[in-house]
Amino acid sequence: MSVITRFAPSPTGYLHVGGARTALFSWLYARKHGGRFILRIEDTDLERSTQESVNAILEGMTWLGLEYDEGPFYQTHRFDRYQQVIQQLLDQGDAYYCYCSREELDALRERQMADKEKPRYDGKCRDVEDNEGGRERVVRFRNPDDGEVVIDDRVKGRIVVANQELDDLIIARSDGSPTYNLTVVVDDMDMGVTHVIRGDDHVNNTPRQINILKALGAQLPVYAHVPMILGPDGARLSKRHGAVSVMQYRDDGYLPEALLNYLVRLGWSHGDQELFSIDDMARLFELDKVNVSASTFNTEKLLWLNHQYIMNSDPAHVARHLSWHMGERGVDPSQGPDLAEVVKAQRERCKTLVDMANDSLYFYRDFDNYDDKAVKKHFKAGVDDVLQQLHHGFEALADWSVEPLHRVVHDTAERLQLNLGKVAQPLRIAVCGSGASPAIDITLFLLGRDKTLARIETAIAYIRSMAV
Ligand code: GLU
Repeated sequence: MSVITRFAPSPTGYLHVGGARTALFSWLYARKHGGRFILRIEDTDLERSTQESVNAILEGMTWLGLEYDEGPFYQTHRFDRYQQVIQQLLDQGDAYYCYCSREELDALRERQMADKEKPRYDGKCRDVEDNEGGRERVVRFRNPDDGEVVIDDRVKGRIVVANQELDDLIIARSDGSPTYNLTVVVDDMDMGVTHVIRGDDHVNNTPRQINILKALGAQLPVYAHVPMILGPDGARLSKRHGAVSVMQYRDDGYLPEALLNYLVRLGWSHGDQELFSIDDMARLFELDKVNVSASTFNTEKLLWLNHQYIMNSDPAHVARHLSWHMGERGVDPSQGPDLAEVVKAQRERCKTLVDMANDSLYFYRDFDNYDDKAVKKHFKAGVDDVLQQLHHGFEALADWSVEPLHRVVHDTAERLQLNLGKVAQPLRIAVCGSGASPAIDITLFLLGRDKTLARIETAIAYIRSMAV
């Protein structure tokens, strides 16, 4: 049996990290078993679904690199098929029309609550023949009266639900539109889904879905309900805990692999290994090793992982992502040093690509102001002469590479009997605008001769203008 998994988001918002983790688990499981991964957009709630959300989900999946083998399928394109199945269930006697009005149902509920019973539909219309016609009606699934539903959940273990606990679920609304449990069942069946991996907020739907699948004579999939993700305060992870949208992590300077690595470890482990390449994940991932209990999102750990990925990934790869951030800042990375070289120079210092982009702008465009504090500390009277000497030294260099640049800075400090900081810091402020940059020789090398010399000249003029 070939494995088929699916990710089935409802397009009612951005791609949430919780959804992304479920998608990742489904994707990994299909990869591991040489199966197929389907993307299905559950857009039947016409009021809450938006094209914008669909785009956000597709963008998130693409950015994460979670490629789907089939889809995206849209449930709104499959209404005819759902009608066909609803009719089949009616014809088989596994579904029936229910004519109960809202008032009747409310009264039933109140009566049950007063009697301390669990509110549930009592099956009143099960055997009603409509003699009047034209009345408003919904379609209900005729749930079996006895027996039980057994789910051998790959994460939660065995779950047994007595059929008496389940009532007759509405599968078509009065306007004929199918409800969530029906569409999911039809799709999982038609698409041959073998493993349903989803959030455990759906675990209560599963026995109902199994009963409908059985009525349709479908093969039952394996279920794996993944526990939710909590914020540090123990409440379900939400916006108020910080970023929860996948694309927000892109905007905040995370690499997709770092987020994937973080998400795979959130509620799943393989010994005490922390770093997993995509190939590692696909090879080692096991549903049975997913934690039964909820996991807590830890932003610090994600940041640590991101830094690991920035430091250890191929610089050209990091540069491709950095390039997007540079573009967002109106910088064209072709107008300066090779971005991969900038990555190599900056990666120890920068935990996010946002930091790296902001700290690398000066390689590509002139800055408007010097950092105030740095100026006060280092642009003192006499420093113009230090910079002038450095300028002479650099101007005379035939070979603009790291080693000779290094020597000029050292020789100048020695000649002027200054410690290195007193020379390198003003120089750094002159060429970068602030007191923070990679090693000064590498910074100058990347910046190139023209920008270096021009910026030193500007700084000399600036210091002299302050002195008058
Ligand atoms: N569309 C549902 C959701 O976004 C998921 C349904 C499922 O995975 O079965 O919560």
